[in-house]
Amino acid sequence: MPPRIAQRLRALPSYLFREIERRRQAAEAAGRDVIDFGVGDPDRPTPAFILDAMSRALRDPACQGYPPDTGTPGFRSAAAAFFHRRYGLELDPQRELIALIGTKEGLAHLPLALVDPGQTVLVPDPAYPVYRAATVLAGGTPWPMPLRENNQWLPVLDAIPPDVARSAALMFLNYPNNPTGAVASLEFYERVVHFARRFGLVVAQDAAYNELYLTADPPPSLLQVPGARDVAVEFHSLSKTFNMSGWRIGLAVGNAAVIEALARVKSNIDSGVFKAIQEAGRAAYEGYGRPEIEQARSLYRERSEVLCAGLRACGFRVSPAQATFYVWAAVPDGYDDVQVACRLLDEAGIVCIPGSGFGSAGAGYVRFALTVDVDRIRTAITRLSRLSW
Ligand SMILES: *Cc1c(COP(=O)(O)O)cnc(C)c1O
Repeated sequence: MPPRIAQRLRALPSYLFREIERRRQAAEAAGRDVIDFGVGDPDRPTPAFILDAMSRALRDPACQGYPPDTGTPGFRSAAAAFFHRRYGLELDPQRELIALIGTKEGLAHLPLALVDPGQTVLVPDPAYPVYRAATVLAGGTPWPMPLRENNQWLPVLDAIPPDVARSAALMFLNYPNNPTGAVASLEFYERVVHFARRFGLVVAQDAAYNELYLTADPPPSLLQVPGARDVAVEFHSLSKTFNMSGWRIGLAVGNAAVIEALARVKSNIDSGVFKAIQEAGRAAYEGYGRPEIEQARSLYRERSEVLCAGLRACGFRVSPAQATFYVWAAVPDGYDDVQVACRLLDEAGIVCIPGSGFGSAGAGYVRFALTVDVDRIRTAITRLSRLSW
């Protein structure tokens, strides 16, 4: 008899990206040349100034023991200084900021800190799968907030029934948005803060792409709204900004009681981020103004233009992402997104992600990650142009 697996896992869909990865490996095992626009993982190396900080720290015995629970003072104050420079925010690095083993880790643990079994969590649809999965693992009930093109991919707050809002413990948001590439304005965040106050819920805004603005102006932080810190926390990631996805470091900032509750969950589960990695993270934030970051943006801008032009010529309706490194394309008429993703893989060796994998409101779109160099993007477009729809 196989071991009995807990009920809560059965309530989870299989993790989307693992499924895509399996299909990609199968195609490659069959000898096909695959161009992978699937998982959004930066293809460029971590900048040298960050590697240098890491190699220095690695040899320092002071970095080799258990790290402090909520992050080293050095990392936290460098991050707080970054928030001041970039957003004009004065954060208390002790109480309003916590280091995470990547943003995903913090997002996944947050419902354990805030949500009682059976409580509602407002979750965008389409979305990064973690918000929903973390809600289910904590015994909460996700309430989808559809994001639609005709509302700039923002949730319609007035469409959330007041009794649902009142019973909700938490609302997840993610701007700049994965998968749609949309950006939210400070004015939208003001409405969110007002909504959260009115219904007594916490807002968790995932700002993993805040520094990857392409056609948009630099996006605001939700914490720039006066009073936001009474109701909100924001998650920031080093993975996309500094090409550090494998290093596993991120942070949450905002409401001190929420940060403290998250710290309590984490202190019972993990023992923090390797101190040498926090030294690297500190160097990253201290080096935020360096040209490497703007170079990364220009690279994604160029890729976005080439891919969007090519997709348009092939019958997809698409506009370049305002921010993030994704292209979110409406599929040709008469097809659904899963059919399109399958045809691209089977007939052109192109991996993209069907929008419905991010939630039912993502149906009819496919997502391309711009983590492929421009020559390969051109090859993909050539292959795509041979398909007829
Ligand atoms: C990539 C991504 C993350 C993960 O960031 P890590 O810091 O690497 O854990 C979080 N949120 C969104 C929306 C992402 O796309």
